[in-house]
Amino acid sequence: MFAQENRLKRMRGKLVVGNWKMNGGLAANAALLGELVSNWGPTPGRDLAVCIPYPYLVQAQAALASTPIAWGAQDVSEHAAGAFTGEVSAAMLVEFGCRYVIVGHSERRQHFGDTDAVVGAKARVALAAGMTPVACVGETLAEREAGATEAVVLRQLDAVLASVARDAAKLVVAYEPVWAIGTGRTATPAEAQAVHATLRRRMDAAGANDVLLLYGGSVKADNAKTLFAQEDIDGGLIGGASLKASEFLAIANA
Ligand code: PEP
Repeated sequence: MFAQENRLKRMRGKLVVGNWKMNGGLAANAALLGELVSNWGPTPGRDLAVCIPYPYLVQAQAALASTPIAWGAQDVSEHAAGAFTGEVSAAMLVEFGCRYVIVGHSERRQHFGDTDAVVGAKARVALAAGMTPVACVGETLAEREAGATEAVVLRQLDAVLASVARDAAKLVVAYEPVWAIGTGRTATPAEAQAVHATLRRRMDAAGANDVLLLYGGSVKADNAKTLFAQEDIDGGLIGGASLKASEFLAIANA
């Protein structure tokens, strides 16, 4: 069993995704993307991507198009087109070459009212357009302290699974404890692995054994290696540390 699990882990490969959040500018992006391109070659079994603010997608497309680095967005509308002022559709993201789109980031859930149902719908439209949703789940500190971590992350994951139905195997799932995002406080490798194992069991039950499970929450170059060494952690979703090329690359190489 152990040997088989290790074999599956190897087969799953690794993925590190940067989430720039609402940061960047043309000049700073050019420098950051340039450094990533110069220092990240094709690496079998390891993928690197950046999820950037919408206005800079065209810049990322130009900088990354012929490189092994993928790019994507941080959100998508659940609607296809029409009177949805301020929204951006999945078809629009595809026109700018997005491979990934983050859905259900805790900041979207917290500040913009994205419910489990909305997150599920966003994952579905992203898949229908040919992108890979990075579906985020995670508990608040109060929920963890109340012993509700497992119930919360499974409720959030189940909403996505119900919405994407047979396409579960095409998801990437990111476990991001809300109390660890941007706080400098990271889940211990054992805490993260315990939640990942729960998520893995649910994905296995959905017939999606090879789905990549990323950990996010104050990942840095100095803690990435131990986190990524955990059996069910296949890489990371990186916020603050993705804005500095050397730090982001060190994490990707961990
Ligand atoms: C995130 O925003 O997805 C994130 C994990 O942020 P940070 O790495 O800064 O905690």
